[in-house]
Amino acid sequence: MSLNKTKIVATLGPASGDKKTMKKMVLAGVNVFRINFSHSSHEDAEKLIKTIRALNEENEWNIAILADLQGPKLRIGVVEDGVVIAPGDVLTFTNEEKVGTAEEVYMNYKLFPSDVKEGERILVDDGKLLLTVTHTNGIDTVITEVVQGGPLKSKKGVNLPNTKVSLPCLTDKDLADLKVALANKVEWIGLSFVRSAEDVLQLRKIINENEAPSRIISKIEKPEAVVDIDKIIEATDAIMVARGDLGVEVPMQSVPLIQKTIVDKCHRQGKPCVIATQMMESMIENMSPTRAEVNDVANSVLDGADAVMLSGETSVGKYPVEVINAMSKIIAHVEDSGLIQTKEEYPPEEHHERFITDSICYNASKMADQIGASAILTMTFSGYTGFRISSHRPSTNIVVFTANRSILNMVSLIWGVRGFYYDNMESTDATFADIKRIVKEKGIVQEGDMIIKIASMPIQDAGTTNMLKISTI
Ligand code: PEP
Repeated sequence: MSLNKTKIVATLGPASGDKKTMKKMVLAGVNVFRINFSHSSHEDAEKLIKTIRALNEENEWNIAILADLQGPKLRIGVVEDGVVIAPGDVLTFTNEEKVGTAEEVYMNYKLFPSDVKEGERILVDDGKLLLTVTHTNGIDTVITEVVQGGPLKSKKGVNLPNTKVSLPCLTDKDLADLKVALANKVEWIGLSFVRSAEDVLQLRKIINENEAPSRIISKIEKPEAVVDIDKIIEATDAIMVARGDLGVEVPMQSVPLIQKTIVDKCHRQGKPCVIATQMMESMIENMSPTRAEVNDVANSVLDGADAVMLSGETSVGKYPVEVINAMSKIIAHVEDSGLIQTKEEYPPEEHHERFITDSICYNASKMADQIGASAILTMTFSGYTGFRISSHRPSTNIVVFTANRSILNMVSLIWGVRGFYYDNMESTDATFADIKRIVKEKGIVQEGDMIIKIASMPIQDAGTTNMLKISTI
């Protein structure tokens, strides 16, 4: 299995949903499987979840599951074959469900006529078509003028970068999908089209009401989310830079700098960041990636992403295993260079409620680099110290020992972190001796290596992390 620190998230689909292929994908480097509820039925999702859990059990793996909710995705309806619209044409959007023509098309967003204003832009089919609103009757009809034309195809997505969309972040479909995800205790839930921290808190409330262990990945794909990013990062457990929709909603040339800024802000707040979409797109059809794609993956790793994600490449692509192999090779090569660093150092903030723990994590990371430690071992119940140590990007292994089974798979998303189950908290000395033995047996460290251990003392109380110890294997 891959020992890379930057993790790989792979989307499952018809090309990869069988156990044999999934096993090969894990052996090639997958850490997290993504189930995309835009395309998965509940039955399919439950089947995939069962297969992942079985693979984990049979192979002693900790592969995490990301259940990605569709969110308020706007779409046009079915359109007659061969419809093409041209600049200057008038196209009417209607709430009446009918087959679309070059003059009129159905839109699945009922409040569109009351939310949209004259002059606002409408993008269809990943931004291939651009239209401007010339009139709305505020009830059921919006008239637009075509600015950039082309084929108008059935069921294509619609983006409204200037419109305040009043749809909730969680649609009825999302709430039904969420039930399945929470009942199956998936480790991560992807929240699409997040606009504010409030959206994240709403999902958090439902997760808590269901007493589920699931954590939230907020997908950044709306301009409002980019503006409110600090508060969203504070409210969420992780971020995804969802470059597909983001690159339609904001000028595409803004995406690279937004990516770098968000990764840096995530490091600052100790939250993992996933870079998604079109990373190895050409491998949907081809055996090897383009050089530009190799650069994109390498640069995302250098930016400090926790994970890089594959969508169509593994869900419908011809080479779901080969693409993981290629990605793993790129990651390994960049990591070997030793060039991955945070943009600045982020020492703990004195007024922060977790100041003592944050201080231990920051200093453990610094010290690990100074003394060339082979691993930082942390005892944790919530996983917090794993997130925090990782955010400082020490050039060592980060090993989480926990008696909380529900976080074991979850930490597989975090840069450099590996989790092991451990519940024998007899005494500090006995526990430390035990976990040293385990990392040696697992081949993570060798005789003579330096390691750093952090924990709470007394260890039986499982309280605030307040202790750091250096020792030799
Ligand atoms: C994206 O838009 O980049 C993205 C990851 O979202 P989706 O769930 O639509 O693939």
